[in-house]
Amino acid sequence: MLNKFERYPLTFGPTPIEKLDRLGKHQGGKVEIYAKREDCNSGLAFGGNKLRKLEYIIPAAIASKADTLVSIGGVQSNHTRMVAAVAAKIGMKCVLVQESWVPHEDAGYDRVRNILLSRIMGAEVRVVDEGFDIGIRGSWEAALDEVKSRGGRPYAIPAGASVHTLGGLGYVGFAEEVRAQEKQLGFGFDYIVVCTVTGSTQAGMVVGFARDGRRRNVIDASATPAQAKAQVLKIARHTSTLVELGEEIDDDDVRLLEGYAYPSYGIPSEETKEAIRLCARLEGMIIDPVYEGKSMQGMIDLVQKGFFPEGSKVLYVHLGGVHRRSTVTAIPFATADLEISAQSEHDPTLL
Ligand SMILES: *Cc1c(COP(=O)(O)O)cnc(C)c1O
Repeated sequence: MLNKFERYPLTFGPTPIEKLDRLGKHQGGKVEIYAKREDCNSGLAFGGNKLRKLEYIIPAAIASKADTLVSIGGVQSNHTRMVAAVAAKIGMKCVLVQESWVPHEDAGYDRVRNILLSRIMGAEVRVVDEGFDIGIRGSWEAALDEVKSRGGRPYAIPAGASVHTLGGLGYVGFAEEVRAQEKQLGFGFDYIVVCTVTGSTQAGMVVGFARDGRRRNVIDASATPAQAKAQVLKIARHTSTLVELGEEIDDDDVRLLEGYAYPSYGIPSEETKEAIRLCARLEGMIIDPVYEGKSMQGMIDLVQKGFFPEGSKVLYVHLGGVHRRSTVTAIPFATADLEISAQSEHDPTLL
């Protein structure tokens, strides 16, 4: 579906699919759980889902003769970190507007992790007061104007690289990649579980998987699900026209499960923290408290509720995400309530 679009390679290639055997057994063994490791997709600043989208946006940025990428996100946005990395890699300047998407009390919040990495990579970072919103913002337009008034040539990349006209293509490619991997594996996945906020990840998948009518489950982590769903639909419809899908996207094609984003965007609940610990202790797989922790919590809850029929193969999509400082401080070290058996079948080999 993507042959006519130019792609600038920023990732290593297809991402691995890994069976989460211990997690599956811990959940009762009735469903098989696999993870698609988008978090390991690139050597650029820890990688993640935004790079798949940017692979289709960067050729347009280069063709526009821009010299500065301008983007926007929360203070601890993974997306803006990825834009900073890409700008460094392709030799452009970078201006980032970082909004106050998450209420925080941690004095170091705007100086550590993602925002620190963006500064290290040379981005000009502006912290502004506006709150959470996945739409187009005045502060971002002001940054674009300012780059122009300095004589620069800005190229605008919206929050999460989502409402960009080419923003949905990367995850159409993801669907094609999964289909090819399923051929090699010799089986197909019955469900795909992923987390949505700005929407183009889900939108691309909706279009990419449309032809095989796959049951999808997407967990909302935005805490503004109506807005998220409308944005996913808009991007999916636009993208389906771009790739000439030849099928209508219905409202029902966008399935967004609410109920796990609480208490608000960016703040993990106790249940989210427990899902993070469980996943870390059973699989050594690190997930963040803003996005993947919530989709993991959602998936575990759905397994427990018997939502997936017995024998289902569930693909959990790990979209990346740098572990925030707040998690490290908020998640206690020891948990008495979590009982995980040692893996006795493997004899530890001592040196
Ligand atoms: C951006 C992001 C998401 C959400 O993807 P959208 O395309 O914005 O819906 C999920 N997980 C991580 C780690 C992200 O950085």
